[in-house]
Amino acid sequence: MKPQDIDWNNLSFGYTRTPVNVRCYWRDGQWGPIEEHTEETVTMHMAATAFHYGQTAFEGLKAFRCKDGKVRIFRMDENARRMQSSASYLQMAVPSVELFCEMVAKVVTDNKDYIPAYETGGSLYIRPVIVGSGPQLGVKPADETLLLMFVSPVGPYYSGGMKGISAIIDRTHDRAAPFGTGHTKAGGNYGASLTSALEGHEKGYDSVLYLDPAHHRYIDECGAANFFGIRVDGNGKAHYVTPDSHSILPSITNKSLKQIAADFGMEVEARHVELEELNTFSEAGCCGTAAVITPVSTIFDPADGKTYDFGQGVGPWTQKLYDELVGIQHGETEDRHGWNTVLDL
Ligand SMILES: *Cc1c(COP(=O)(O)O)cnc(C)c1O
Repeated sequence: MKPQDIDWNNLSFGYTRTPVNVRCYWRDGQWGPIEEHTEETVTMHMAATAFHYGQTAFEGLKAFRCKDGKVRIFRMDENARRMQSSASYLQMAVPSVELFCEMVAKVVTDNKDYIPAYETGGSLYIRPVIVGSGPQLGVKPADETLLLMFVSPVGPYYSGGMKGISAIIDRTHDRAAPFGTGHTKAGGNYGASLTSALEGHEKGYDSVLYLDPAHHRYIDECGAANFFGIRVDGNGKAHYVTPDSHSILPSITNKSLKQIAADFGMEVEARHVELEELNTFSEAGCCGTAAVITPVSTIFDPADGKTYDFGQGVGPWTQKLYDELVGIQHGETEDRHGWNTVLDL
């Protein structure tokens, strides 16, 4: 699609074709050159381990066209390190942080006419994916790995203002096993979550809340997003409370919010969070790259029929955290931790 044919003010979170994607193959023990491609398809061996044995992991990050005309990419080195961790656990070739970041910068530069203008509130979503592309018949790692990145312009998550969602606690499916792949962005985790999400929707809920798979006692994640609650203690001090467990995907948005909360003078608690603690939170939300923060209004527990209620709108601390993070991403608030890569495009 040509840039002039895109309906820039009505973009959703969906796939829009852009001219260039970048690819790099690991063969014979080393990474080859970064290739620029215009076709949307990949030719791959039918016995590639990606198809049979789930040797696939992905990432998601964003680039923003800012008021000062520059382009800012948010914390891409963190995405690089997380992809290293996923690739390593799934026994694929591990790209260097430098290779990952060079490919991100290239795919953004090559598609710079597809970065939504500042005024639209949109961004360029970058999707890196790494797969075992070499053939195997037995359950073994592929001897060839493909790292591919494409981009798609996406709209602002909240066009009509921030709105809270409803969630149901899922006690019949787990997102990941206690010592499994939950800490990685392995493709299999997401295939395995589709039934759970669909059943949640059919029951009338926007999202599902997963509990820790070993005990079903602590909170893990909310759909494909991290969870946090805000507790204001007797002395009026606000606490940013977020679950920590091996089966949770370490969200870069959450990592950033923890830092911002600490900067605000909030108490940051990253630890096991008991389900019953929901009673102590005045605000709750889930966080990830797509939406930054989605406030959670209600959580229903089918075990005892109880609904935890955090109010319909967005709470004051949630709003403050959201505004600060979005301000940094758009170059309007001082980037005091050096999170942005600034490109002159
Ligand atoms: C990607 C993802 C997140 C959010 O991570 P960000 O780095 O903030 O985008 C949270 N939970 C799961 C399960 C995810 O896949």
